[in-house]
Amino acid sequence: MVQVNADYLKLKAGYLFPEISRRIKDFTSKNPDTDLIRLGIGDVTEPLPLACREAMKAAIEEMGTEEGFRGYGPEQGYHWLRESISKNDYLSRGCEISADEIFVSDGSKCDSSNILDILGKDNKIAVTDPVYPVYVDSNVMTGRTGEVNESGEYHGLSYIPINSENGFEAEIPKEKFDLIYLCFPNNPTGAVATREKLSSWVEYAKQNNSLILFDAAYEAFIKDDSIPHSIYEIDGAKDCAIEFRSFSKNAGFTGTRCAFTVIPKSLKGKANSEEVDLWSLWNRRQSTKFNGVSYIVQRGAEAVYSKEGQVQIKKLVSFYMENAEIIKKNLTSAGFEVFGAVNAPYAWIKTPKNITSWGFFDFLLEKANVVGTPGSGFGAAGEGYFRLSAFNSRENVEKAMQRILGA
Ligand SMILES: *Cc1c(COP(=O)(O)O)cnc(C)c1O
Repeated sequence: MVQVNADYLKLKAGYLFPEISRRIKDFTSKNPDTDLIRLGIGDVTEPLPLACREAMKAAIEEMGTEEGFRGYGPEQGYHWLRESISKNDYLSRGCEISADEIFVSDGSKCDSSNILDILGKDNKIAVTDPVYPVYVDSNVMTGRTGEVNESGEYHGLSYIPINSENGFEAEIPKEKFDLIYLCFPNNPTGAVATREKLSSWVEYAKQNNSLILFDAAYEAFIKDDSIPHSIYEIDGAKDCAIEFRSFSKNAGFTGTRCAFTVIPKSLKGKANSEEVDLWSLWNRRQSTKFNGVSYIVQRGAEAVYSKEGQVQIKKLVSFYMENAEIIKKNLTSAGFEVFGAVNAPYAWIKTPKNITSWGFFDFLLEKANVVGTPGSGFGAAGEGYFRLSAFNSRENVEKAMQRILGA
């Protein structure tokens, strides 16, 4: 019989979203007429910006002509899109990131897990707690951890708590880690990293020869001008950080699929005590295992940087951030302790009277018919917290607030 990858068997069984679905199904089968409002999933709800749609339609027509037809594109992405990203997301903010350091892909979820392909198995790895589950599970699947304990922590991974006691800023570790995952603005807590904090991380990484994997999927939601949008706004980050970006949240591409990863050419790692540059390994990896993003979708992504595109995505982001404001204002006035929701589309709520995250989930489901996400599903330190997302219609957000306040 064929051998399977036994590391998959270490994955925690009761994974977050299936458990949420199970409880919703259970509730709706007993209460078939309830109209539930879902503020749970991290998916956008507003339609695609017009500029992106028009660009994609034009690209489809082009593909229908002899001259405009295209087959396989470059595995790294079309040069015009990489140039546009370099100019608009990096050079404009003073970051010297060139087009060929940008690798276009079909998502940050896959990039942030696939990156392990080019990294050794014996690195000491740290994640924050709570955390985006993809970082943890991809380490489990590739055999980089041991078994899970009762609080959901995997042996061999280190967890850096982010909670109200440390102002939701992960503290710089005293220990040396080779690989550190950071996500700011943070999913699920909505916390941001100040310039000072990010500078300390870069300094730590340089001192310890560590690599930071920086997920900036939510940078477009930053309102406060003093918060960096990219880790490369910090001097020295080009020597110690990879950045993941996506069009999923800023331009509503969750179903359209386009993202990119930045691997500066100056990034070095080692193999058999020799220095190797990470850019070449990732370039090799992508060329072998990936055939690029659809031409049509890349034209859609390029349109994000057009004049109209910029206006439209700003409007989209503001819409969600107004939702976030409504959530924060209402719940705060009702006496809840609410974090995040200022520079990120997530409100991170302290559960009242020390009830557990799942206890609060059941309470909101049954008494307010509102679905959120239990903080404990993102890690042991998320226990006692609850995430509500701003990705919904205005009507649903307002209705959900009325229901929670009345519950
Ligand atoms: C939504 C999200 C992404 C984006 O993933 P895609 O695969 O590009 O859609 C990346 N990181 C985090 C933390 C996210 O929440």
